[in-house]
Amino acid sequence: MMEHLLIVIAGPSGVGKGTVVKELFARNTDDSLALSVSCTTRSPRKGEVHGKEYFFLSEDEFMEIVKEKGFLEYDLHFAGSYGTPKRFVEETLKTKDVVAEVDVNGALNIKKSYPQAVTIFLAPPSLEELRRRLVGRGSEKEDEVTRRLARVNYECSLVGQFDHVVVNDNVKKTVDEIEAIVQKAKNGQ
Ligand code: 5GP
Repeated sequence: MMEHLLIVIAGPSGVGKGTVVKELFARNTDDSLALSVSCTTRSPRKGEVHGKEYFFLSEDEFMEIVKEKGFLEYDLHFAGSYGTPKRFVEETLKTKDVVAEVDVNGALNIKKSYPQAVTIFLAPPSLEELRRRLVGRGSEKEDEVTRRLARVNYECSLVGQFDHVVVNDNVKKTVDEIEAIVQKAKNGQ
């Protein structure tokens, strides 16, 4: 029986999940939230730190964890694989609410194994805005941007399977809405 909430934030690449999660934690002054740090086989971007944004692993290290069934969910996509470490989430849920920021497939897979999880789909205000953000970020090469955008239609087609949808047109408003969703879930509403 899960004592605390697993809050899963997902949405297309470039929708602003990272910024939203940062703001959510900046407001979490009572330290009641913990962030699930994922494992990935992609290379670190400039400024990313092992253990903070991700645990950066080799393919072999990643597959070792897959074999040990150490991921709550994992997905092999884009230029690398991504997985949510199971033990951290299970242990931390005993004392805190846990936030996992994953892709759309990952969120739906988590919901399958933890139906109590609260899944939130962050939607872009528009496709044009999403394209602008992905290109503006400048961290991916052009073919990678194209690949990520091609995935957006598929990801948006799964929105109906989420518990909640929040349009991310303003970070503060988005986080207000997420906090309200969490509060309601905690009150059993
Ligand atoms: P990025 O390479 O931009 O950091 O992340 C690419 C995508 O992978 C994003 O949509 C991100 O949310 C997703 N992602 C990050 N961690 C995980 C994870 O543990 N599992 C899954 N399924 N997706 C993840």
